[in-house]
Amino acid sequence: MIRILILFLLISFNQYLNGFKSCDESKPQKQVYSINFMTGKTSESDTLFRLLPAGCVQYGNQYMHKEAAEAFTAMYNDALSEGIRLTVISAYRSYDVQKWLWEGAWQKHRHLYSDDVALATHILKYLSMPGTSRHHWGTEVDICSTALAWWESPQGKRVYEWLSNNASRYGFYQPYGPLGESRKSGYQQEKWHWSYGRVATDILNQYVDSVSYANFSGFKGSQTAKSLAVIENYVLSVEKYSITKQ
Ligand SMILES: [Zn+2]
Repeated sequence: MIRILILFLLISFNQYLNGFKSCDESKPQKQVYSINFMTGKTSESDTLFRLLPAGCVQYGNQYMHKEAAEAFTAMYNDALSEGIRLTVISAYRSYDVQKWLWEGAWQKHRHLYSDDVALATHILKYLSMPGTSRHHWGTEVDICSTALAWWESPQGKRVYEWLSNNASRYGFYQPYGPLGESRKSGYQQEKWHWSYGRVATDILNQYVDSVSYANFSGFKGSQTAKSLAVIENYVLSVEKYSITKQ
């Protein structure tokens, strides 16, 4: 009986110590993102988003994920002090805005393709289907111009060189580099599109675990999402963010 009592006391004491240990080792709580959040079924008033300072943006109100907004504002100000203006064209976009862009493109290019898969493939060169855009997350930002020719101009080359040399110091990277060895499918290269890597990678990992083709419906061409494997071939086809780049 005494042995059993001693054993019980030892186990209890051990649990008591473990209780302290788990307190000491407690980590900041991991942010969990809902399927609605990850597919853009949100609005600018979501508590995770912050308005970017008016001076940074080309037009309208632009929002980013709170951590990304802080990092971008710092990057914008530092670039400006070196004579580089990283004006924002587009940051957070809701599902509804992406649907409006997508269906606009669908209508515009419909006459070129009678086949829905071919039409969707054409649009997907640069534009994401609603529910699959990283812009839904508030971690992405399109800077200066989405015209390829502008990035080949002397001014465009200067901005790109600055971003290539400095963006990583603020946690930003270019997810859509050239198609080739490291990125075999998906969107064309987008020199204007920069991503706040740490948060975007966290969301991407949760997206892959939670979002499925059943979540894509209610827009023109949504039935092509599965046959084009947009999650595997587009959402996942990004350059990997590396913290060592910082
Ligand atoms: Zn973009």
